[in-house]
Amino acid sequence: MIYLDNNATTQPAARVVEAMLPYLTECYFNAAASTVAFTGADKPRREAAAAMAKLLNAEEPDCFTFTSGATESNNWVFSSFARKRKIGRVLISTVEHASVAEPAAELARLGFEIVEVPVDVQGVIRLDALREALREDVALISIMAANNETGVLEPISEIGRLIREHCSSALFHTDATQAVGKIAIDLQGEWEDVDLLSFSAHKFHGPKGIGGLYLRPGIELGPMLLGGGQEHGLRSGTSNTPALAGLAAAASEAHAFGIQAVCELRDIFEKRLQAVLPQAIIHSHRVPRLANTSFFSISGTDGEELAEILAASGIIVGTGAACSSGAIDGSKTLRSMGVPREIAAGGLRVSLARNSTLGHLEALLYAITAFCGKSAGQPALTR
Ligand code: PMP
Repeated sequence: MIYLDNNATTQPAARVVEAMLPYLTECYFNAAASTVAFTGADKPRREAAAAMAKLLNAEEPDCFTFTSGATESNNWVFSSFARKRKIGRVLISTVEHASVAEPAAELARLGFEIVEVPVDVQGVIRLDALREALREDVALISIMAANNETGVLEPISEIGRLIREHCSSALFHTDATQAVGKIAIDLQGEWEDVDLLSFSAHKFHGPKGIGGLYLRPGIELGPMLLGGGQEHGLRSGTSNTPALAGLAAAASEAHAFGIQAVCELRDIFEKRLQAVLPQAIIHSHRVPRLANTSFFSISGTDGEELAEILAASGIIVGTGAACSSGAIDGSKTLRSMGVPREIAAGGLRVSLARNSTLGHLEALLYAITAFCGKSAGQPALTR
């Protein structure tokens, strides 16, 4: 199988699986037991926190609370405001993942004023509109770091500066699920104004069902889950030690992500696609975006149908709707960018990983052009 849907999930790295195994076999002990000094079951959590702090240049390992993933982390941020019962203004962008947009909608039902800040035609947040929405009574701003569909990188440091200038007491949350492990992040440098950051390990070759929330020192949200008091009393529940061991391994390997090579592959593919299918529209290619992501539409085709045909021939790619199960309305991101429905309907997302090859992309191009009734042409993809 040729797997080109790495923004949906990635293959756990060999070192990740290896790191997890002992905690599924001989070291299956409870990390909160009083005997932990003898069993060593607390090691995965310590290593995961240290590796995440290094990867994101966070102040200290204690800034991290581990959760089941970004969906839970995002929900926690919003539900903490619901619990405070202090109604206020909350800003999100129009292209947020459902795990931000839905909790925001829930806050709206509770009486919060939710403002959806628009993006431009390339999918970049409109800083002028954000500036206008930033009033003193804003309680929370949640803007994603990298879009799951287009790969567009939102200008997090500029957004942070605007927030600090205009509403210094608001919390700035970023859903960095697609950014962690793919771009350099410095929480004490460029991203120093970010207060809260969500991530999921399975997006950077770690296991599924583990992720977390970074909380800048001094930020208090109130607990997500009550019970045995694990995770500094913020998220009770027996520690998922195998997953934490996998997260630690994935985060330490993420430093070595071969982003330059991946970017080169993506660019070769896009050039060739446009050469053989001039009707292909590559979204957001004029703005900074994730090096591994190519989101394009072939007008006159149905992206869902094409993705199914590709899957039947052993090639897995994503479509606009891929990130939310059961979505039938095309890409929310493309609609927010003002892309006409008939073009959005032809959206296909190719997302590469460090194990993607030129051969994979050649096979994809061949299959797409065959579907469109054209020859992929010669020569094949060349560097
Ligand atoms: N945010 C973004 C931008 C995502 O791409 C995803 C995963 N599709 C999530 C949040 C949710 O991540 P998880 O399913 O791992 O909780």
